[in-house]
Amino acid sequence: MNFKHGGIFVAKFWWVNQGQSYKWESALGVMWAPHVNEDGKTQHHWERMDRVQPGDVIVNYADMQIRAISTALTDARPAANPHVGLTELEWEKDGREIKLRMQELEVPMHLSDVPEALRKSWKSYGSPFNIKGGVNQGYLFELPEEAGLWIMNELSLVAEAGDDLSDVIPDAGESETDAVIVVGPDGEVVVKFRAEHGQLKKHLFGGKKESECALCGKLLPRGLLVTSHIKKRAECNPGERMDKRVVMAACALGCDAVYERGYIKVSPAGVIEIGPRISATEHLSAFVNDLVGKKVSAFTPHTAKYFAWHAKWHARTALHV
Ligand SMILES: [Zn+2]
Repeated sequence: MNFKHGGIFVAKFWWVNQGQSYKWESALGVMWAPHVNEDGKTQHHWERMDRVQPGDVIVNYADMQIRAISTALTDARPAANPHVGLTELEWEKDGREIKLRMQELEVPMHLSDVPEALRKSWKSYGSPFNIKGGVNQGYLFELPEEAGLWIMNELSLVAEAGDDLSDVIPDAGESETDAVIVVGPDGEVVVKFRAEHGQLKKHLFGGKKESECALCGKLLPRGLLVTSHIKKRAECNPGERMDKRVVMAACALGCDAVYERGYIKVSPAGVIEIGPRISATEHLSAFVNDLVGKKVSAFTPHTAKYFAWHAKWHARTALHV
């Protein structure tokens, strides 16, 4: 195991080039590599499988894009080629596999999203990157810690203050948590698990420092905008939860709160109207009236159904308040 700092498990980062095998390996939640090639020779990029430890972080790369971030659930175990009968990758029958808990990225990260100068600087023996900043041929590579941290940070997968974190690796099929990195005071890298949110945040804000509130339209610093579910998250089916358009950026100056509680709703024309819940104070109705008539930037033919759900749900629950 990769231990240091008084017994804390310290994760390593790996990079796997899955190419056309991504489709099947991600469906099965595994990485697989043969023991030897057609000439009976071992390959360094396959042999690395034996150094992966449960809890390590793997960057899944295919078609010029980072497609998923995984956590290793096992070390490498002998296993038959899972591609036999499925793909052309049938050159060898026996090999080893590592079971993964994969988080597919809703917005894959293209190689060109990683600055070339950084990729060049991450070149080292066993690294996925070559002297030109390109990706080396081969299956599994050791990702320098600096590179792993940079990628995790770009994907909003570094824990922030206030995140509710758990040490327990969820089941392989569980999709409602993100593996996130916690960097300790001595620089140790620890993997924990956080309720899924990072991908939606990334979709809404990307690297932007400022953005507009989808309801009032004010341009505000990122810290004053909230990832707000247009349709209540608890009521979304699994497909809707995965839909990055189920959220909008709403401001913490009040829009998020009055929308969430049903004081405003969005009409089928995408315009803010007075919501089912009655504003009980003058101050609140003044706030609501200020919003009425504004066009909602998050309203599209696709999100219309989520706004319609919200209006209907609050019309029903407002009766009981
Ligand atoms: Zn607002």
